[in-house]
Amino acid sequence: MSESTDRIVVVTGGSRGIGRTICTTLSAPGTTIYFNFNSNAEAAQSTIASIEAAGGKAYTHQVDVSSEAAVADYLGMILKEAGRIDILVNNAGITRDGLLVRMKEADWDAVIDINLKGTFNCMKVVAKAMMKKRYGRIINISSIVGVSGNPGQANYAAAKAGIIGLTKAVARELASRNITVNAVAPGYIDTEMTDRLGDKAKEAMLDQIPMGRIGTPEEVAGVVAFLASPAADYITGQVINVSGGMYM
Ligand code: NAP
Repeated sequence: MSESTDRIVVVTGGSRGIGRTICTTLSAPGTTIYFNFNSNAEAAQSTIASIEAAGGKAYTHQVDVSSEAAVADYLGMILKEAGRIDILVNNAGITRDGLLVRMKEADWDAVIDINLKGTFNCMKVVAKAMMKKRYGRIINISSIVGVSGNPGQANYAAAKAGIIGLTKAVARELASRNITVNAVAPGYIDTEMTDRLGDKAKEAMLDQIPMGRIGTPEEVAGVVAFLASPAADYITGQVINVSGGMYM
């Protein structure tokens, strides 16, 4: 398979931030990108425009990745329409920060359900279809917080650490079928998710980054594109940090 033609790509949470940039970066003539959003239909329209500007075809749908039934319907529809899925990027994610002793059960559940279970839900359906085709590239967006921990993010760190374990287990299950499964662990990246942090928290984060600056969504998307490309055909079960050295 060539790098930029005839690829069927699914990106979760493509309406904003890193997900939108992954969609644009993977877009090329011959590439069809299906991406979902949760509530931001207007932002999803902007992603469609950027995918099309880069030459690819784009389709978007509202799908809550934490719902196993909704994900099965959505991916089933894509498989029926496109016949296969070559690349799956599990990017959808949320934060609900708070110290452990004050963390509400609902905030624990929402973060685990969307970040971790959402990734499981999508991988489960797509893996089956990829196994039949004996080809697939799965890239899961974790976080360096999943390996380093972070005060105030017990739920998020647990979900992102879970994604790393899930990635490695499934990489071992699917390797013999020519399906690679890798994770990308971004550090502090400039999106709406990190925009919400207060100035003090932002300064504290910057202090921990040897490269001394926040990362861009393009710097994460570039690594995703590499893992989806033939250059990474012999790489599986890996976690690639994109953090300016924040975690080594
Ligand atoms: P963002 O700007 O907040 O965008 C999140 C995306 O996820 C949006 O497209 C959103 O859709 C979608 N989403 C949220 N809940 C969903 C659900 N239940 N079902 C389907 N889609 C849902 O976040 P980001 O900063 O780009 O983060 C993208 C990924 O990178 C996340 O997994 C995040 O944990 C990870 N990450 C980010 C950073 C960072 O510094 N920004 C660092 C490490 C890891 P709507 O637009 O409809 O809400």
